[in-house]
Amino acid sequence: MLLMYLILLFPILLGWIAGLFINYASDVLPVTRRFSKPACTQCGNHFAWAGYLMLRACRTCGKKRSLRTWMVQILSVASFAYFWLYPSKALGIPLGMIVLVYFGIITVIDLEHRLILHPTSLVGAALGLLVGTLIHSRANGLLAGIGLSLLGGVFGFGLMYLLYQFGTLVARFRARKMQAAGQAEDEEEALGGGDVYLAGVLGLMLGWPFIWDALVLGVLLGGVVSLLFLLALVARRRYAGDALMTFIPYGPYFIISAFYFLFL
Ligand SMILES: [Zn+2]
Repeated sequence: MLLMYLILLFPILLGWIAGLFINYASDVLPVTRRFSKPACTQCGNHFAWAGYLMLRACRTCGKKRSLRTWMVQILSVASFAYFWLYPSKALGIPLGMIVLVYFGIITVIDLEHRLILHPTSLVGAALGLLVGTLIHSRANGLLAGIGLSLLGGVFGFGLMYLLYQFGTLVARFRARKMQAAGQAEDEEEALGGGDVYLAGVLGLMLGWPFIWDALVLGVLLGGVVSLLFLLALVARRRYAGDALMTFIPYGPYFIISAFYFLFL
């Protein structure tokens, strides 16, 4: 029993380090687009590495580290410990941990900035091809594995691209209607362009035909949450005629859905 607790120290430590990396990537990538020295969000002064990694407050203005920083640390430790004890059957422990870190970074950046960065999509495509090939070559052999992963990627990207084009058409129609009504145009998008790349990455990862299930589940989840949100607006009598058009960021829902298929 004692030994089991001692062994759990390893994934806990690893999870803490992974959390630090997720936080670091989410702090710097959306701002500088590279792995730069982290800076305080309030005063802009650079952190000293030691203080940053110890999660200390800013030396200059005293601003404490964000709630997200702590939540990521806790979630990351918890999920590493959990998937150490109950590893993903599809991924195994090491690859599972890498995918967890990747999903963590994408989710935090998407939630905070509504942004899916191209460099992270490129890294994700490489990781996705590796994961998808591994999953599908077990039963079908290497070549078929690569093929099914690529097919999933093309399907995920292609389907979301078509939906994105359709969303753009709707947005253009709406802008024209608003102009005609004398209202100012806004920059509302029905489906973010970054979600198209994300769907491609997840398609590579899950491969064909699982990407189809994952996208359907993701769109359903997004739809249900948006519907609840809309009902809440109606209940508070703040429903405006065009609330239906409000941007749905599908990114996090796709990730939840891919997480479900890969880990649970
Ligand atoms: Zn500061």
